[in-house]
Amino acid sequence: MTSEEHPPQDSLHLLDHTLGLLHKSAPALMATEELDTLVHLCLSLLVTPNGGNFQNAILLMVNPRAHSMQGILGLNRNSVGWTIPAADHWEFPPELEQEQHETDFCQKAQHLRLSCAPGDNRAALAVLEQRAVSTAESMPESDLDRLLDGRDYICLPLQDWERAFAVLVVSNDSTPFPNEAQRRFLQLFRHHAQLAMTKCRLLQKVEASRQDLNAFEERLIQQEKLATIGEMAASLAHELRNPLMAVGGFAALLQRQLEPESQAGEYAGIITREIQRLEKLLNNILDFSKEQIACVEDYRLDSLLADILELELPTMLGRGVTLDTELAHKLPPLKGDSQQIRQVLLNLIRNALQAMSGGGNLTVRSHLSRLRGEPSLCVEVEDTGGGIPTNLLRNIFNPFFTTKEEGTGLGLSVCHRIIEHHHGVIEVVNKEHGACFKLHLPLHLAKADPGPWHRF
Ligand code: ADP
Repeated sequence: MTSEEHPPQDSLHLLDHTLGLLHKSAPALMATEELDTLVHLCLSLLVTPNGGNFQNAILLMVNPRAHSMQGILGLNRNSVGWTIPAADHWEFPPELEQEQHETDFCQKAQHLRLSCAPGDNRAALAVLEQRAVSTAESMPESDLDRLLDGRDYICLPLQDWERAFAVLVVSNDSTPFPNEAQRRFLQLFRHHAQLAMTKCRLLQKVEASRQDLNAFEERLIQQEKLATIGEMAASLAHELRNPLMAVGGFAALLQRQLEPESQAGEYAGIITREIQRLEKLLNNILDFSKEQIACVEDYRLDSLLADILELELPTMLGRGVTLDTELAHKLPPLKGDSQQIRQVLLNLIRNALQAMSGGGNLTVRSHLSRLRGEPSLCVEVEDTGGGIPTNLLRNIFNPFFTTKEEGTGLGLSVCHRIIEHHHGVIEVVNKEHGACFKLHLPLHLAKADPGPWHRF
């Protein structure tokens, strides 16, 4: 028999044909590395006239989280568009995958959604009891029966090392279907298909893990680089601080002795101011690099916010910024270092004011919220300063990242570290007119409470 012919009808030749088919297809299935191509190949083998010659074959994928099954591919003998080649080496043309997807039967099969509830349909029973289930077993009519126009069919679960991940559904127009020979062939074919698909899924998992590992390695290298830069910056800052303080002190002395209107007096003033700016920068770097000792206590976010806003109000008015507050009252107390949280809030408000150099509106909100399913408090600081360019969003919490001429780029990275140590989350979103920073602080610190003094 040539590979272009239909399967023989008498039982001896039929046995020879099916064994030959299994023998030929097994290496081709195992050699296929792409799961999609493998699914096309498996179903094509089942329906193609010189292969299994069954009327229809459908693959349903099991979604264990949704307790449901979804049609992935459905092929029909008349529209399969592929015959088993005579040559030993098989090619499955990539463009044929698209053509098979576009057939009417496949479109309907892909819309199929079946429940995994026992007693709902035969595919669910096959998954649940991990055995082949055919129309010989009576069950209420399901969408699968309607798709197959009431023909006889059999559902074969495909299992990996832990669970059934898919169901192969095969139907035929001969009745009763399947007969004993067909059942035996399909059971053997199922073993080949499940082995080949498990191999492809494992390859996919290995590739995904490899990519995760690469990304993790890159992050680690980045962190190591940042830590080295941080250490270098800290030791440099330490070395520079003392001579700088001396220069600043002498410049201030000179300034006092010189006439403020004289050119020398003006120069001395510039030196003093610039040295003050440098000292601030060095202190910021030292603050950032030293270990923070935190005092864990009960504190009230509402009164902390009220204090900070009162303190910052004159600066806001001076810059032409109006303040809107939407503060929830009687919020439950929080646990943590209120001074550090104060530093975070001040930093966010000052950044917002700096973003609105031409005036604007600052909105501060506080409300009860949930973080990782636990009760938390949320504070939002929203400005109308134009927001943060999307390509910079992922960098703003990195140390030394700044877009300001006189910025240190340490404010947000310190905020991030403090909030992380309080088991909270800090995030930023761009709103219509500006940036909105959100702080989420859990009402209760981690289960193992660190005690009143805690080294962060
Ligand atoms: P610095 O203020 O010294 O630049 P930060 O770490 O506080 O350091 O901020 C890093 C960068 O994040 C800023 O330079 C700025 O580009 C951006 N940024 C922070 N807050 C805002 C804001 N409210 N609006 C726009 N950009 C902001």
